[in-house]
Amino acid sequence: MSFTNTSELPRILDGIAIAAQIKAEIAEQTASARSRGKVPGLAVILVGDVPASQIYVRSKVKTCGELGIYSELHTPPESTTTEELLNMVTSLNSREEIDGILIQLPLPKHVDTSRLLEAIAPEKDVDGFHPINAGRLLTGYPAEKVLAPCTPAGIMEILQRSGIAVRGRRSVVIGRSNIVGKPLAVMLVNASSTVTVCHSQTTDLAKVTREADILVAAIGHPGFVTPEMVQPGATIIDVGINRVTSAEDVERFFPGDQARHASFAKRGSTLVGDVHPAAFAVSAAYTPVPGGVGALTIAMLMANTVKAARLRRG
Ligand code: NAD
Repeated sequence: MSFTNTSELPRILDGIAIAAQIKAEIAEQTASARSRGKVPGLAVILVGDVPASQIYVRSKVKTCGELGIYSELHTPPESTTTEELLNMVTSLNSREEIDGILIQLPLPKHVDTSRLLEAIAPEKDVDGFHPINAGRLLTGYPAEKVLAPCTPAGIMEILQRSGIAVRGRRSVVIGRSNIVGKPLAVMLVNASSTVTVCHSQTTDLAKVTREADILVAAIGHPGFVTPEMVQPGATIIDVGINRVTSAEDVERFFPGDQARHASFAKRGSTLVGDVHPAAFAVSAAYTPVPGGVGALTIAMLMANTVKAARLRRG
């Protein structure tokens, strides 16, 4: 059995272009809201000084500025207690001009993350992690009325804007986390796909994944999905973002790829998704890493902030 799609090259689903489209739409909406004196506002809480979190937060604040969204950054020190953070959230909950509250994860170990996330007013929960919003998603609230988690919402945008039908088609999601796998499975069911969720305890995984018209990998293991796990002609959504730091791994994932090797030599690392690049060749379409799903996440956060403003303030 050949696993190569020989008819034509797979289509690359360009997350950067789709994110740019969504951001342009948001900029129009915020301009219109501003002209009516209503400026959407996002408050970001970054506890401590984890370098990766600082980079993500800087990027979120910068995008707010580009799209006409008011933002403010709160940077309490690593030693801040759960009670102090709860007070901060309570104060943000009560402020009229703040539409969205985002707590950058992970939090220091001594902080009760669940308690804090549940303290955010559901109507300001732009990460979509509050049980009320998770419940609304599960019970099929109309998409325009629910604040859903950004990464799975971004995946649905990629599928929809790329004209990839999900209704009546078989989707397989590998990964059952609360931020990606589970909410995405619910969104796909709500969009009338037939969905199977796989995880670390799934037996005969390849047999299940080969049934997928749409195969989503959200695992956190570089190159986990191999060509024999993919049905020829499937759409692959690669959510994984894994940093590879050895030259052997670069050669294993990108054999003979001079550009990758050169970039690795310069930076000391390269990004690989949860799908082995060789598996993309079997597909009809796929999201690359980088430049695929990851590119959508901030755009969807901005979209949720504008949506939260609209739902709460009209
Ligand atoms: P997680 O660790 O919370 O969940 C991983 C899931 O993979 C678990 O449900 C587990 O059951 C499953 N899994 C682990 N080993 C498996 C195996 N051998 N077979 C089948 N399933 C297995 O991870 P997460 O937060 O959902 O993130 C997954 C990946 O997506 C990571 O690489 C992460 O960096 C990436 N991610 C990307 C974005 C983005 O914006 N693109 C956002 C969030 C997460």
